[in-house]
Amino acid sequence: MTPKPQYRSLRGMPDILSEDAAAMRWIENVAREVFKIFGYKEIRTPLLESTEVFTRSIGEDTDIVEKEMYSFLDRGGKNISLRPEGTASVIRAYIEHGWNNTEDITKLYYSGAMFRGERPQKGRLRQFHQIGAEIIGGSDPYIDAEIICSLNALLSRLGIEEFTILVNSLGCTKDRTDYKKALANHLKKKDSGLCDNCKRRSHTNVLRVLDCKKKECKDVVENAQGILEYLCEGCLGDYELLKNILSGLGVAFCEKEDLVRGLDYYTGTIFEVVHSSLGAQDAIAAGGRYDNLTKQMGGPDVGATGYALGMERLLLAIDRSNFKSDTPGVLVMPLDEECYTETFRAVNELRLKGVACNADLSGRSFKRQMRKANKEKRAFVIIIGEDEIKSGKVVLKDMETGEQEALSIDDVVKKLGRAMDARRKEKNDKNT
Ligand SMILES: [Zn+2]
Ligand SMILES: [Zn+2]
Repeated sequence: MTPKPQYRSLRGMPDILSEDAAAMRWIENVAREVFKIFGYKEIRTPLLESTEVFTRSIGEDTDIVEKEMYSFLDRGGKNISLRPEGTASVIRAYIEHGWNNTEDITKLYYSGAMFRGERPQKGRLRQFHQIGAEIIGGSDPYIDAEIICSLNALLSRLGIEEFTILVNSLGCTKDRTDYKKALANHLKKKDSGLCDNCKRRSHTNVLRVLDCKKKECKDVVENAQGILEYLCEGCLGDYELLKNILSGLGVAFCEKEDLVRGLDYYTGTIFEVVHSSLGAQDAIAAGGRYDNLTKQMGGPDVGATGYALGMERLLLAIDRSNFKSDTPGVLVMPLDEECYTETFRAVNELRLKGVACNADLSGRSFKRQMRKANKEKRAFVIIIGEDEIKSGKVVLKDMETGEQEALSIDDVVKKLGRAMDARRKEKNDKNT
């Protein structure tokens, strides 16, 4: 009996096993292609940052900073945190490398693990993965449109159907201040109807009350005025122009006036993508403009916008038949133990020439090796016996047709290359 494992991965931090890993890699590859077409450069920021990078940007009065960050003192007594999201680190890097001195617009994307010490529940992990994009250096509606178009293109390229892009505008700082005041006033009258969290938030970060999923809070905010009433002429004009650009391009979207984002740093146009497969209206991607953040973090006064996609949610939304998971390579089978050395040599040579292969040198009989090759759905097997060793050739067997022929290793490499090309072409033809 296998003993019970002594160590297990931490709660909410699961291993990602081969099939999911292959799906994640496929998603990342598609994202890389799309970002390249849209002109983004990749950035890989560290997993650990000074805690202040996040408290200054995300905001003290957010769930993330209040209770979800993995923060601790390092050996030198410095307060550091595992990144709970990507934007703060990207902006920290943008300022640190002085990108504003060398380019007007900086477009960056990232992909990687994020960490939040949430109570693990369905769809919420403590280590999760995000793909994100940011455009820093400008704030016109064409940039908003571009960032939304790149997200739309990415979701389409991933073959995700029936997603909805929700948009709203939070206006400039003044608009937001006016609206917050009005909303706080509205809530004051009905304070008693709110949940405990929202009672507190209505004083500290009133927009967050709009985010609350509790029914009693939804009822209270239902007949509050929307933020669009409070937008100044400039912000309203920008928002109208954005919607016109998107409509003109045929990018479908829905306006959602009670859409706010949980983080403090958002201004202007914000958006979210929801997908039917996820239930509970969970967003697959979210983002928006954050014009004050770079300055707030000690950098230049430049506009910026961006979004992040939840990798684990994408895994639920993609159709996995759109891509091939890792197919097993060729199985090289010795006829008997006398041939092991020669088999091992052949495997090594094939691998050096780029053929993915394994050999079974476990002492299994030839018949059982063949059964194993069938079970593992190997497309080809290579058989090595005494005759083959003498003639300097091996037998390549096509498992689909049953055909087999004796070939030199070089010819095997050529033939497998051609077979793989043909299969790839067949797959591409099917996809177009
Ligand atoms: Zn405004
Ligand atoms: Zn509430």
